[in-house]
Amino acid sequence: DKTKVEIEESETTLRPPICCVMGHVDTGKTKLLDSIKRTNVQKTEAGGITQQISATYIPTENIRERTKDLKADAKIDVTGLLVIDTPGHESFNNLRSRGSSLCDVAILVVDITNGLQPQTIESIELLKMKNTDVIENDKPLVVVALNKVDRLYGWKTFPDVPIANALKLQSSDVQLEFKDKVTKIITQFKEQGVNTELFYKNKDRLDTYSIVPTSAISGQGIPELLLLLVQWAQKTMIEKLTYRSDLVEGTVMEVKVTEGLGTTIDVILVNGVLHKGDEIVGPIHTTIRSLLTPRPVTELHIKGDYIYHKEIKATQVIKITAQNLEHAVAGTAVYVVRTNDDLARYKKLVMEDMRNIMSRIDKNGKGVYVQASTLGSLEAFIVLLNSKDANIPVGDFGIGPVHKKDVLKASVMLNKREEFSTILALDVKVTPEARELADKLEVRIFTDDVSFRLFEQFKVYFNSVKEEKKINAATDVVFPCILQPNKVFKSKKPIILGVDVLQGTVKLGTPICIIPYQAFCEITGTYFDPGTTEERKKDQPKKEEHKVKEIIDIGRITSIRINDRDVNSAQKGQQVSVKIDGSNFEFKNHFMNEGLCSHISRNSIDVLKEHYLGELSREEKALVNKLKKILKIR
Ligand code: GDP
Repeated sequence: DKTKVEIEESETTLRPPICCVMGHVDTGKTKLLDSIKRTNVQKTEAGGITQQISATYIPTENIRERTKDLKADAKIDVTGLLVIDTPGHESFNNLRSRGSSLCDVAILVVDITNGLQPQTIESIELLKMKNTDVIENDKPLVVVALNKVDRLYGWKTFPDVPIANALKLQSSDVQLEFKDKVTKIITQFKEQGVNTELFYKNKDRLDTYSIVPTSAISGQGIPELLLLLVQWAQKTMIEKLTYRSDLVEGTVMEVKVTEGLGTTIDVILVNGVLHKGDEIVGPIHTTIRSLLTPRPVTELHIKGDYIYHKEIKATQVIKITAQNLEHAVAGTAVYVVRTNDDLARYKKLVMEDMRNIMSRIDKNGKGVYVQASTLGSLEAFIVLLNSKDANIPVGDFGIGPVHKKDVLKASVMLNKREEFSTILALDVKVTPEARELADKLEVRIFTDDVSFRLFEQFKVYFNSVKEEKKINAATDVVFPCILQPNKVFKSKKPIILGVDVLQGTVKLGTPICIIPYQAFCEITGTYFDPGTTEERKKDQPKKEEHKVKEIIDIGRITSIRINDRDVNSAQKGQQVSVKIDGSNFEFKNHFMNEGLCSHISRNSIDVLKEHYLGELSREEKALVNKLKKILKIR
């Protein structure tokens, strides 16, 4: 039977989905992983769980065993699960290769007592991040582990009872609290643009993340979590998970010095076969000297920590030794050169890896300097800094430890925007020489191994600088306004006028100038009669009555009154009297025929843009542009 053979073949060529655990600090990621890994099977020919470098392979057998109480109808066909081991570690959460996420499935851990936290939101952003490649349907499949349910007051643990049933066995108080918490968390997710639903209610599974209540301590909910992951993976990702021998697909997870081996790279090989002696290209071009996997604990009496391989088949993590590896970059793809054309083609692909990041860097290089451990974490961090709320530009970046050259590059900002002469070092070391130079040049270095904490650190500093600048700039700021005089109360030292605020906002301290009537008409949209037509409107002054041809500064506003009450500012549409002081100008009666406006300058516009943009209406922004033209400001 031909069909049968084909099906069997396709079954044997699936690779295990790669699973990442993400979430905020202390939500229980490590504990959850421990619990997943504890899924031991007594006697199995296929061998149990295998510990790889930074990853653990959990065979299908173990998943079947762990989920047997759930009596799932569907067979588990997926060939196990490869779980990335170091949760919370930036470089592993954010491993992206060629703009797509490395993990096929993700567990997003949320603490039921805390709800969504900064790193949860960051993880959501990463999971939502658009893939720049043309690969369809490439976003990871996500399941939310709503962890620490045992912390609900009065929670009773029923080991081996499926979580949905265990919930029904709780007291009504616990059930109420659970429902309340879940509703809140679903709303919080919604605010982030993500639909979620408890897994036993979730019909529309792909667009809606399923929530599985778990306790990493008692292990409750973990079978459900595993079952959901493998069942959906086999249902929706068969194409992606079909093992491809024709394509070597690997990503550098870490570049590090390994004792006795020099600089090595740990590569997660997703597809294909690597051989000793293969010529590889990433940002480096070299030949594989050795392919290593850790020796299982049971064999540790044999000499050497590693097993040497002639060839290695996906999917697993391997350590590679070769020359030039110190220039490798974590988070980049590894390509194998097989034909003459390959080298040039792959080098081009490597450049494209970088292009994505380059597009997020400030065009003029004005911004902070970011240093991260991998390309993926770098990109994700830059996205965070660039986000609409933060709006922090990035001027340049580096990967790996912070060296003197990075400090020098960051110091370029010192005389442009001092607060940007800052290095944000994410999950990387700072060499003592770099630190020394930074102290000397007054380049600030902020370090943290968690991006949102690093982000917060900088934001606190950045905001304080901004606030300080705003205070200093307060005397320079000029808000735009157009005034029409209607009465001269006092013509000189100080001038006191009754005015209509035609546009914008008039504030204390605003420098005021008289503008030629033609300009005034242009701004206010009134009809300007050049004085040549006979049908001139009656109430319009004659042309010769507009004497002002140039801009005349008449002083600053020192007081504003509405109905004998002192105010700090007045808006469009109000009638006020203003005192204008600071010059010897005499406001003769004929100036009543002219218009007044705030005398903005290049500097005042810059200050306005930088510190007060949020306080300006759209109309006022447009007014600034009109005044800019009239006052001939470049
Ligand atoms: P991580 O930072 O996300 O990896 O969090 P950990 O796994 O280190 O857990 C943080 C703390 O929460 C530890 O003290 C754990 O023992 C505790 N914890 C984790 N999961 C649970 C759980 O399901 N229930 C309870 N009560 N405590 C938990």
